[in-house]
Amino acid sequence: MSPFQYERASDVGAALAAGAHAGAQYLGGGTNLVDLMRETIEHPEMLVDVSGLSRDIEESEGGGLRIGAGVKNTAVAADGRVRERFPLLAQAILAGASAQIRNMATVGGNLMQRTRCIYFYDDAARCNKRNAGEGCDARDGFNRNHAVLGASESCVATHPSDMCVALAALDAVVTVRGKNGSRDIPLTAFHRLPGDTPQVETELKPGELIIAVTVPPNGIAAHSHYRKVRDRASYAFALVSVAAGLEMEGGMIKDVRLALGGVAHKPWRAERAEAALRGGPATHPAFRQAAEAELAAADALRDNAFKIELAKRVIADTLEKLAAPNGAAR
Ligand code: SF4
Repeated sequence: MSPFQYERASDVGAALAAGAHAGAQYLGGGTNLVDLMRETIEHPEMLVDVSGLSRDIEESEGGGLRIGAGVKNTAVAADGRVRERFPLLAQAILAGASAQIRNMATVGGNLMQRTRCIYFYDDAARCNKRNAGEGCDARDGFNRNHAVLGASESCVATHPSDMCVALAALDAVVTVRGKNGSRDIPLTAFHRLPGDTPQVETELKPGELIIAVTVPPNGIAAHSHYRKVRDRASYAFALVSVAAGLEMEGGMIKDVRLALGGVAHKPWRAERAEAALRGGPATHPAFRQAAEAELAAADALRDNAFKIELAKRVIADTLEKLAAPNGAAR
């Protein structure tokens, strides 16, 4: 690990001042960044500890919730309002990591976690995300866990977060603050597809700090679920995950929210599937057709073609269970 300075920010203003230094990075719970420093993948010259800031969950307009960036993942998943109004968010967080990691990890840090591509962590491998322009050893390597949607020649990595998949489905908005003030970014626009700059992973500008994530009210709580398919029952990243919610009216789909994890460089809002389903019947053929529409643009590598059919089946099966007479979140 390279030497670095450490500074614990007393408030947001102090954090922004310290974060403006070249080589500074913000530190939340450290559950990803410190690992990357130990592996000599990240080399910050200064860590600005913001884990003591923005630690409240507050009511927002119309029954939504504003969740501070410093709130621990455990606290979000345990909050009664989250469990009642946004159960798939609590389910996603509980599916995301061990209790020990959830106790340390913050909401802001969860948004900023980096891919678990094995070649990204191996400094003997070629990786455009680590060293722009040097190539990508995952393309012709072991790529079972890699992306089937939205990838590029430069990078085929997936985003590792479960929480962010739920937030994408829930139309969450990220509030950030920088030297020019605050701005709001929809969660679905916060993370980027790789294109030819896979090292640029979010829309954050240099020095900007995540302050909070706001989840607006919606009508899907009674028919929503986060489902994660992985190689083992715990402490594994998603092969495919689905955050789904239905608002039903007389057997028809009044509204639908659908996002996928484990398939792309960012949490993947399934807008094609949603458009196919909205206003239509809640039937298995309709769910399967919507899944086919969403995965029509999928592109497999040598080892990950199974993800395409797996995603279709998980989408259709999850929606079918939610639409059943007693298909409340479970
Ligand atoms: Fe690096 Fe992306 Fe290729 Fe993985 S997939 S080796 S992160 S460029």
